This record gives sequence, structure tokens and C-alpha cells, in this order.
Amino acid sequence: MPLDPPGDQSFRTTDPKVREREMTYAGALSFCRRRYGRDLAGIDVAVTGLPFDGAVTNRPGARLGPRAIRAASTQLAELLAFPFGFDPFERLAVVDYGDAFLDPGEPLTIAEALRRHVAGIVDAGTFCLGLGGDHFVTYPCLQAHAARFGPLALVQFDAHSDTWTDVGQRLDHGTMFTRAVAEGLILPERSVQIGIRTVNPDDLGITVLDAPWVHRHGVDAVLARVREVTGAHPVYLTFDVDCLDPAFAPGTGTPVVGGLSTAQTLAILRELNGRQIVGADVVEVAPAYDVAEITALAAATVAHDLIALLARDR
Ligand code: MN
Ligand code: MN
Repeated sequence: MPLDPPGDQSFRTTDPKVREREMTYAGALSFCRRRYGRDLAGIDVAVTGLPFDGAVTNRPGARLGPRAIRAASTQLAELLAFPFGFDPFERLAVVDYGDAFLDPGEPLTIAEALRRHVAGIVDAGTFCLGLGGDHFVTYPCLQAHAARFGPLALVQFDAHSDTWTDVGQRLDHGTMFTRAVAEGLILPERSVQIGIRTVNPDDLGITVLDAPWVHRHGVDAVLARVREVTGAHPVYLTFDVDCLDPAFAPGTGTPVVGGLSTAQTLAILRELNGRQIVGADVVEVAPAYDVAEITALAAATVAHDLIALLARDR
């Protein structure tokens, strides 16, 4: 039964697969108007905010990312998924799980609080789609996913390698993948970075497809390399929005020019194998530096398309 009157399905509906009429510009916000809930029985995907930005090296503000992504996602909830041509939310039961509760006054508790929050989703057998937060939040996400799926292939969209030196305790959004490799959470020989435009002499054995390589060789070459490197291994996909050029994502903490366009990025993303992906996040949206919601809309579209990929391939 449709809601009468329509609207505000994020707290009024009991059916996670329903699509009610909404005013795009108003109403209670949730990711793509999904119902809020923490009961994961029968739920395929939980979208959750990971609002931490205490690990940034430049501009702060990504703690406000989840809120901005939810607001921008309302447009995507209106129509069938393009170019997929179906409604992913009819095929998969998706909830907005709300945000991880973090105490910014106790920074040393943050990583463990994030890990426990994400493990609560992953261990219920539900796909976790995290909305950052700065990129450090991916480290506790990887801990929670590797505990269930074993060492993972990392597919990382980013301007930065995030593999600078880390002896195991930094709160730093530029070093956590060094730690993830050292701790066996990810397999460097199965992992690939796309869009890089910083020099880091130590790639730790991870395949690097830097932005000039992507521009020169194109989308199909990227996809071929990603398939070669990841094989049939379970993939954790992490999307740092600064992979995009600042023209396409100005609202981020560490922008670097010469990046990918949203068109290039979506073309890559939409050809990935949704069966292979066991977890994902979209991070580093800092709305204070955004213009006309360009960045938030890009991030919301990436998150939405990831759900469409799962709906298409599973
Ligand atoms: Mn990053
Ligand atoms: Mn980055």
C-alpha cells in the first residue's frame, strides 16, 4: 500500500523495497530515501555514515560528508538507475543504517569504534557501503571485512597512494594502506590503484594506474588491468572522491589537478563485476569546499551505482 499522503518514507515505510513519491527538494533525508533501520534481517545492503575527519593532512571537513551525500542522493532516488535501466532498490533490500557514533574527544577510540560499527553490519551477512569521513575510515572497514572474507583485493580510486610510512598506530589518511598490507588485510599483488597523481617510491607491490596512464590508455585498458590484477579474488572497493579532478570534485580536503572526469570514472565503475565486490566505501567529501553540490552529487552517484552493480550482478 502506498503511503497516503506520500513522502518521508525514510521513517514512515516498513518495506525496505518500496519506492514512494517524494519531493526531491524536501522531506526527511536518508541515502536514496531508503528506510532507516538497524535490524538487518533480510537486508542485502546497509549504507552507513562514517563521520570522522581527524586523520586529514590538509583541509578538514569530511565529517560532514555523509550528510551532504544523503542530501545529494535524493535526485537519484527519483528515477530508474541510468544506464542500468532498472530499479536497484526493487531488486535489493537496502537500508540507511545511520551513522557510526564516534566521540571526537576520545580520538584513540575512533578506529575501534568504526571497526565495531562496520563489523556489526558485515557479520550479519549484509553488504556494508560506508560513506566517509576521511580516507582513514577505510582501515577499520578493511579490518571488519578481512575478518569475514580473508585478505582482500583492494580496488582504490584515489589521487594519492595512501601508502606512506606507518609503523602501526597513526591516525593518518595517507598511510593506512601500508598498515593494511603489513597486517595482511589486503593482498598487494591483487590490488590496484586508479587515478594516482602523487609520487611515492614505495608502491608496496600494488599495481598503480596513475591518472596520466588512464588518460592515455582509456577506460577499456583500465578495466582489463583491473580484471587481470584482481582475478576472481574478493574485492573491497574504496572510492576517494579526490580521484576526480577538482573540476569534478572541488569539495574535498586534498585536491590534486589532472584527475579523472566523472564520465571516465563512472564508465570504469559500471563495468566492474558486482559479484566480486564484498564491501565498499565513498570517502573524502568535504562539503564546505563544494560548489553547487558537484562533489556530493558525484559521490552519491558512485554510491548509487555501486548498489546498481550489486543488483545487476548478484
Ligand atoms: Mn585516499
Ligand atoms: Mn586522495
